[in-house]
Amino acid sequence: MADADVIVVGSGLAGLAATAELADAGRRVILLDQEPEGSLGGQAFWSFGGLFLVDSPEQRRLRIRDSHELALQDWMGTAGFDRQEDHWPRRWAEAYVDFAAGEKRAWLRAQGLRLFPIVGWAERGGYGAIGHGNSVPRFHITWGTGPGVVAPFERRVRRAVARGLVTLRFRHRVDELTVTGGAVDGVRGQILEPSSAARGTASSRVATGEFDLKAQAVIVTSGGIGGNHDLVRKLWPTRLGRPPTRMLSGVPEHVDGRMLSITEKAGGSIINRDRMWHYTEGIQNWDPIWKDHGIRILPGPSSMWFDAVGNRLPAPLFPGFDTLGTLAHIMRTGYEHTWFVLTREIIKREFALSGSEQNPDLTNKDLRQVLGRAFSKTAPGPVEAFKERGVDFVVERDLRDLVRGMNALTEEPLIDVERLEREIVARDREIENPFSKDMQVVAIRGARAYRPDRFIRVAKPHRLLDPASGPLIAVRLRILTRKTLGGLHTDLSGRVLRADGAPLPGVYAAGEVAGFGGGGMHGYRALEGTFLGGCLFSGRVAGRAAAEAVG
Ligand SMILES: Cc1cc2nc3c(=O)[nH]c(=O)nc-3n(C[C@H](O)[C@H](O)[C@H](O)COP(=O)(O)OP(=O)(O)OC[C@H]3O[C@@H](n4cnc5c(N)ncnc54)[C@H](O)[C@@H]3O)c2cc1C
Repeated sequence: MADADVIVVGSGLAGLAATAELADAGRRVILLDQEPEGSLGGQAFWSFGGLFLVDSPEQRRLRIRDSHELALQDWMGTAGFDRQEDHWPRRWAEAYVDFAAGEKRAWLRAQGLRLFPIVGWAERGGYGAIGHGNSVPRFHITWGTGPGVVAPFERRVRRAVARGLVTLRFRHRVDELTVTGGAVDGVRGQILEPSSAARGTASSRVATGEFDLKAQAVIVTSGGIGGNHDLVRKLWPTRLGRPPTRMLSGVPEHVDGRMLSITEKAGGSIINRDRMWHYTEGIQNWDPIWKDHGIRILPGPSSMWFDAVGNRLPAPLFPGFDTLGTLAHIMRTGYEHTWFVLTREIIKREFALSGSEQNPDLTNKDLRQVLGRAFSKTAPGPVEAFKERGVDFVVERDLRDLVRGMNALTEEPLIDVERLEREIVARDREIENPFSKDMQVVAIRGARAYRPDRFIRVAKPHRLLDPASGPLIAVRLRILTRKTLGGLHTDLSGRVLRADGAPLPGVYAAGEVAGFGGGGMHGYRALEGTFLGGCLFSGRVAGRAAAEAVG
């Protein structure tokens, strides 16, 4: 006797989207999660709420000419699909770009999600029109950030709980997918002791009992591997250099990747394990929520970027241009950290921090505070707090003192002041004309042709050593784990495939555990803001397909 029509493993965004669709179709669902109820929504709650949309009214209002063709060109140039097993990932990529250029915005809007009117320009590329990166700004910020993305789906699921269609079971950790006659027919695992751990903090793993539940289908929505640094290092591809010995964590500890091998053991296949998306602009959180908690700086293009010994990173590895290109470069320098060198004028305009808790104005939908970003004489409060209290920040009026501070933060004094000064003075000379041979200066001026960048996001070009723009600021940057681009191999219905390419009966996957669709719809790299939408889209697909199959 089945306990439900469908069991969903993981109450993050993908799990919530799948559950909501199943309940809408009248199916009975058990939604399980190892964490306490307070962590409902998973990583999405902590997210910045950035959403990739194509040719939206927000873009059009800002005179951005975007199109499905341009977005597909950017996606494919960024993904670089080149493997036989990229068949389904490529199909998912095409379907996802259709969704982002089509019904995505209206679907979310109908559920109450609202967008901030300024569209951000993430991952700008810099290699040429068919290469990596967004040709135009497409990063739409949810009004209310991550919690604003989770809310509509949580609301739908809670309504279904009230109607008796969905049962929520927290502190249920799945250890096995049960298989009978070649088909997955349930889950087995341990009931963990009750926990009052605050959202995002580690909860106890002490078991108090076991469970064994049966259903016609199981949907796995358990997230990626970014909280498991040993696994990240084990799967680290040689094209990204050697794996870092120390990383900051951009995700809570529950992002442990366990369900990947559990699903593999039941007969599902995993592809593109070596594709991952980690950031190079990580700073240690002075007020951490989870272990090794790091925050990603979402940088504007003006900071000068130096490796650990003071060499300027080569073009086009400017802030916000090519995340993995920069990562590969850094991991070949022999050191794991780099430096931004900037001014007060730049930090004020160009530093944003990723994460809902780092953007209380947007998260709390406080319009007055948001407007303050444009007119304030200082950086937003959370950025100022990092400047004052973060261990990675050095603030000085004089370059020699700045370098002294930088060298005090590393085991050996690696930066030579004369060499750094020579680079900065040379770059400063390039600012005198409206044209330049320095590609970063050209890129800064190019960015300012986009009006929101000119008014609120990109500082007016100035000499870094001009005392009027000071003090000088140096920020030590470390590698920060975040997203898993590969995962469970699925077809366009979200059905998990076996190694022979046939569906493993009874099991679906969605969200980060499935590489956001297909086992890696991003290919090698991402355009940003594509992960939350990938969870929603793949969760919706898997939920609808499973609802039909168990009909
Ligand atoms: C700080 C931050 C900022 C981000 N900003 C953005 C952004 O602006 N735009 C964007 O597109 N993306 C962003 N992301 C990425 C995005 O939030 C995630 O990729 C997405 O939320 C993943 O959702 P998921 O449902 O696949 O997995 P998760 O949110 O990880 O949820 C998985 C759930 O499964 C549970 N689980 C795992 N294993 C088991 C098991 N064995 N038994 C029971 N339960 C289990 C976990 O406890 C968890 O609750 C950000 C992420 C972070 C952390």
